[in-house]
Parts: sequence; C-alpha cells; structure tokens
Amino acid sequence: MLISILAFLNSFYTTPKQVAVVAKNPAIQFYSAKNEWRNKTNTDSKKTFLKLGKFHASPRKIYLRNFHFSNRAKKSAFTLSLPKGEISKKKTTPPWNGHFSAKNFRSTQADNLYLEQIKQNLRTSIIALPKWHTQVLKDLEVQKNKNISRGLSNSRKIILHTSSIQNQQELIAVFVHEMGHITDLGALKGKKGHKTSFYDGKTPILNDDLSLIFYQISWKTATQKKNSAKKSDFVSGYASSDCFEDFAETYLFYRLHGEKFRGILRYSPALKKKYEFMKRYVFKGQEFELNKPTNYKFPYLKVFDATLLSFDKKDL
Ligand SMILES: [Zn+2]
Repeated sequence: MLISILAFLNSFYTTPKQVAVVAKNPAIQFYSAKNEWRNKTNTDSKKTFLKLGKFHASPRKIYLRNFHFSNRAKKSAFTLSLPKGEISKKKTTPPWNGHFSAKNFRSTQADNLYLEQIKQNLRTSIIALPKWHTQVLKDLEVQKNKNISRGLSNSRKIILHTSSIQNQQELIAVFVHEMGHITDLGALKGKKGHKTSFYDGKTPILNDDLSLIFYQISWKTATQKKNSAKKSDFVSGYASSDCFEDFAETYLFYRLHGEKFRGILRYSPALKKKYEFMKRYVFKGQEFELNKPTNYKFPYLKVFDATLLSFDKKDL
C-alpha cells in the first residue's frame, strides 16, 4: 500500500531523524515530537494508529523503522511515497537543533491550536535568521502566563511569556529582539581579549568582542551614552536604554524593517554606522526589503518599542 504525503513538516523541535507527516489518506495523521507522539485522529477507533520510529528519507520516499501499529498492521504497509516536488532536499536537516519546551498550556483543543501556531511562527522566524545566530540558542521556552517582560534571554536561552504578547506578529518581533541579545552576547562574544569599560551586569565585555564596535557608536559604558548621542541615533526609544537594548532593537529593525531603517538613517550618521555594522558583521552583507522604496518619514513614525511596529510577514 502506498500512501501519498500531502505535507512534510520538518519540525524544529524534533531530532534530525524524526519528523511529522500528514498523509493524504485521512486515516493517518500523526505528529512526532521528540520521543512522544500524539495521534490527531485517535477519537476514531477505525483509524490507523501509528507510532513513528527512526527513519531516513530519500527525495521521493520515507522509510520508517522501528515503528508499530496499534492495529498490528504489517511493516511493509509503510513505505510512504512522496509526490514529486514535495521534498526538494535529499536530507532533512532541521533548521534548529535546540531544546524546545512549553509550559502552562492545557491539553484543550484551543491551547493545542494556539501552541501549534506559536511553533509555526517561531519556526518561520528561526529559518529567517542566519544559522550561526540561531545555533547559539540552545533552549527556547514558551510559557503561557503573563509577565512584565514579554521575552527574556541570556546568551543561550530565550523565554517568551505568550499571555503578555497580543498577537503572532508581536510574538515574532519579540523573538527576533531576543535573538538580537543571543547574537550579541552569544554569537559575537569575545574570547581572549582584555576587559573594557563595558559590562553586562558583572560580566566584562572583552576587547575582542565584535559588538564593541557597535556599542561604541553611541555609548561610553553600557548605560552611559556619549555626550554627542542624539535621540535620532537610535531606532526606537527603548534602544536608548542601554547598549544591549540598542543592539537588540537595531537587530530587529535591520531584519524586519529594512525599508524603514534605510529611511531613518539618512538623518543620523550614527544610525548609518549601526546599519553598516549589522550589514557587515551580523548579516554578512545581506539586506532586507530592498524591493521596497525608502519613503519612511522620520521622526513621525518613530516608536518607543520596535517590537510593536507592524511588518510584512512574507518578507521574512
Ligand atoms: Zn531586550
């Protein structure tokens, strides 16, 4: 028996050898997450229950190994044939290998759907960022509760408090902002240099840390701006709170609002340097929204918090 696959979803929270698939045959819809799995159709006893085991994929076929069926169907039933064009890559390499967890989500249909939507958007965001940024992120946690901080991060972990985030677009923006911190403190971290006047809490920023080039555009120390710094040198109000928020907001602005950024940098040589820093050291020459005309009017549209600015999700 051959079963055509409608979609092949390589879920970021699975290990490289596991996958979630939705079969064309409506009897079989299943998802695998780590070693747990949920059968989406287990309310209907006639439907086939399947546990995914390890498998390898070729461009046209998936071979399942180590699986079992609750209805004792034969192994040979499950060579899954994929329609042409459904899979372009020979190997399924997940975009991210870190650890994902969700807390305080109930096992109701509404919460399941909500969590699926969150995962989809986080997956889209992860794919939209350079891999050398996201591979520094080892742990991603979503908590369905309110918190004064919508997102938290250190150099390797992000926590998102989804009940304090109004919609999915804001979720993406908060995630990208937190990824700015991860990139700043994790990916661009100095290793062997001397201490500088910049400290992240009690941790000194070393002089071989590439982020220093960015900090020193507007800052004397992490929290003290240069005398010459002007309001127009920052992408948002929040960016002017310290050098780390400056980095994270500028990172978010560069990735999600390329057009607006190129619009406002005309008014500030410092902002132009920040754009050039992001382009050269952080995004390795890649720019975004280049097809859009630069007609952003400064300062009327400037905001306090760049995560609340709308953007076009298809530009991700
Ligand atoms: Zn921040």
